[in-house]
Amino acid sequence: MLNMTYEYKLEPTSSQSQTFDHWLEVCRKVWNYALRERKDWYNSRSCGINACSLKSEYIIPADSPRPNFAVQCKSLTTARQSNSELKTVHSQVLQQVLKQLEKAFTSMWESGFGFPRFKKKGRMRSFLFPTPNKTVVIGNRINLPSIGLVKFRDSRPIPDGFVVKQIRIVKRASGYFAMLALALDVSIPTTMPHGYALGIDLGLEKFLATSDNELVARPKFFVDAQRKLKSLQKVVSRKRIGSKNWQKAQKKVARYHQHISDSRKDFHFKTAHHLCNQAGMIFAEDLNVKAMAKGMLCKHTLDGGFGQFLSILEYVCFKKDVFFLKVDKNGTSQTCPQCQTHTGKKPLSLRIHQCPECGYEADRDVAAAQVVVQRGLAAVGHTVKMLSEGKATRLPVMKESPSL
Ligand SMILES: [Zn+2]
Repeated sequence: MLNMTYEYKLEPTSSQSQTFDHWLEVCRKVWNYALRERKDWYNSRSCGINACSLKSEYIIPADSPRPNFAVQCKSLTTARQSNSELKTVHSQVLQQVLKQLEKAFTSMWESGFGFPRFKKKGRMRSFLFPTPNKTVVIGNRINLPSIGLVKFRDSRPIPDGFVVKQIRIVKRASGYFAMLALALDVSIPTTMPHGYALGIDLGLEKFLATSDNELVARPKFFVDAQRKLKSLQKVVSRKRIGSKNWQKAQKKVARYHQHISDSRKDFHFKTAHHLCNQAGMIFAEDLNVKAMAKGMLCKHTLDGGFGQFLSILEYVCFKKDVFFLKVDKNGTSQTCPQCQTHTGKKPLSLRIHQCPECGYEADRDVAAAQVVVQRGLAAVGHTVKMLSEGKATRLPVMKESPSL
């Protein structure tokens, strides 16, 4: 499915920011309460029968159910009837806190993440509206359930065809932001695979490589921008917190942050259009962005915004009637596009693919993109010819790598 996130800098009135702060604080209390409840339940069950009454200050009846999401939601609904503070916050927003806690436990069990922690004052930084109102954006205002219209600074408009699935309100030092999770509202009609096939490989060195031996460089702008952002943040840290100058500096940070995010989107859209103009079908590697982001490549991967780029590419393909498909990425950089020999793992520093079997040489990322296009063609049932037969893709013209 096609998803994107758009970010808006909010300009709430002072009473609206008070409401935001209040909601965050109530969410924090709910988080801590629910976490305490879960911790107590586990503790009451993990200790020995004899030691239990000595070690624990509390004893939980043996038949009380494990406080999972459903159980905690039920008690939250009951508590809301008598607790006036809980009543002041939208019920679904509070339920999302419990859901987030459930997720924290699941990732602890399944992925070995640490035990969820209690949150100190000010440490709850966002809350989520899982089902926004029908009309989310009205002019330069965003319509939030039970809070109403909140002004935002003008940004990119939501691309057509998209609906807002969720709204997350995030508090940063530079103010409040709304993160809109967008999804394409139409089911994507199956464009038949047709026309010229192009494979792409996303990388860290270059932004992407195509099977046609085109390399798209990562815009230098983003490296400079990170540096500038850091220096702006340094200015903030030298001001007295809360002072007029501090606020001014914060505003600059927020504005620049938005500028980077908009520029990145522009770059992604331009690149997507550029690719769509040269092909009838585009195949991309299905990278597990989450897995990549966890590893050591983390910073670069997130910086490149590969996930966002693939969504935008899919969207532009849909708009331009270009067939789009993600294919298994595994081993694309270890296979020779000409003879399909498994060439073994290449260290990241080795930029050239050089096949020991057939002698084929190409830029490493271009070779990977060529394997991607071959896999894509195979997946849609097109006969794939090896490069040596010169049909599956055009023979590469070396632009950036050493001559053959
Ligand atoms: Zn080969």
